[in-house]
Amino acid sequence: MSEREQEPVEQMYKDAVHWHVNTGGETIHAKRMPGRFRSYKWYASVLWVLYLLTPYMRWDGHQAILFNIPERQFHLFSITLWPQDIWMLSLVLILLAMTLFGVTAVAGRVWCGYFCFQTVWTDWFTWIEDKIEGNPVQRRKLDEAPWSARKLRLKLLKHAIWLLMAVITGITFAAYFTDAFELWQRYLTLDAPPVAWVVLAAFVFGTYVFAGFMREQVCFWLCPYARIQSVMVDKDTVLPTYDEMRGEPRGKAKDKGNGDCIDCRLCVGVCPTGVDIREGMQEGCITCGMCIDACNSVMDKLDRPRGLIRYASRKEMAGEVLPPLFRRPRVITYCTIFLLAVSGIVYGMTHIPPIELSIVHERQPLYIQMSNGDIQNRYTVKALNKTPATLHMQVSLSGATGLAIVDGGQEIVLEPGKMIPAHLFLVAHPGALTAKKVTVNFVLESVESPHIRMEYESVFMAPGGR
Ligand code: SF4
Ligand code: SF4
Repeated sequence: MSEREQEPVEQMYKDAVHWHVNTGGETIHAKRMPGRFRSYKWYASVLWVLYLLTPYMRWDGHQAILFNIPERQFHLFSITLWPQDIWMLSLVLILLAMTLFGVTAVAGRVWCGYFCFQTVWTDWFTWIEDKIEGNPVQRRKLDEAPWSARKLRLKLLKHAIWLLMAVITGITFAAYFTDAFELWQRYLTLDAPPVAWVVLAAFVFGTYVFAGFMREQVCFWLCPYARIQSVMVDKDTVLPTYDEMRGEPRGKAKDKGNGDCIDCRLCVGVCPTGVDIREGMQEGCITCGMCIDACNSVMDKLDRPRGLIRYASRKEMAGEVLPPLFRRPRVITYCTIFLLAVSGIVYGMTHIPPIELSIVHERQPLYIQMSNGDIQNRYTVKALNKTPATLHMQVSLSGATGLAIVDGGQEIVLEPGKMIPAHLFLVAHPGALTAKKVTVNFVLESVESPHIRMEYESVFMAPGGR
């Protein structure tokens, strides 16, 4: 058991005078306590450690995840997405929205409490503050104390580490858009382009101010999600809830007739948004569960059952049975849309064509008649090679009678990621044509990889055809 867990109940009463609901007028100094939900919060922040490390990961000779805006490519491990595949991004956004809505319907603002970059960065920043300046009571005393060598040293150290974290956050974000190692080098040699400096400055400012000073007040005042969550939760949503029946009337443990709540206010002291959960569900609650850990530790010391504050739905609190997830229309709707979006993304990922092809029949002129009487049509081939290798494409016709490619057997060379238009000519003897407008089917086949084969339908026009 840690030192803080062994803290006597009397000390909690003493500290309680420092804990009150903060409505945004001051920096919140939430008390940090060990517990089950505290551990979950640490585990969830691993997701953001991956965010910090991913730009340095290499895959097939390039950055594993790279939004290459100048070349209009998005590399996702061995998959390369082009602007033509952008429809999949819409599905990804729908998928993320449905995940958020579904999770909120089941368990409230789990995203806010455990995964949101704002709350995770704030948690890291306040952990550093806790290590350097001490617990909330010590921090407030330090803030109120006159300037001294000790205060200056502690403040400088804290702000230097915060700024370093903000810089790393900003560079990491920029590194998703260009080669990460090269970017570091360009920043360190002051050779980065202006846009890179603007991105870095915006992120350093945002991270330092939002995570260091405003903290969860950003959730309270700036984040729109807090405003719309009320339409996503219902009586079945499981949220941190104070058991009023068991807790009230609140008062000292030694006084007979009181409920289980000893009014120590530890649940308020640990709350990063300064909410008193005993007053009911509030807009400021990010459902982080810290108050549950705090109250459980108090119940343990009093030798009373845990769960005075616990994850529970309004129905459960009213003594009703919580319906299973598959009986909840809201959850079923979100899950159905989620699965449709996943199916669309999987289909898109597995059916990305290696070449984006279009063959345009020239209309000025529609045809030309050669001196020997043959009819010639001109076509422009626009092919985008979406593979990482150069492709030599053999062009042929399928199912066409009486038509031939001028310089038949010619190859079109497709550089990776490039679209250089090429021209093709078809020729036919008028007597060999079955109609004045004939459908032709072009076939492009890679010499190196015959499985890369594209077909494109167009027309051949003879005099009198339209
Ligand atoms: S709910 Fe629990 S932590 Fe909060 S004041 Fe009551 S006993 Fe203390
Ligand atoms: S009331 Fe409890 S669950 Fe809600 S934000 Fe505060 S500590 Fe987290």
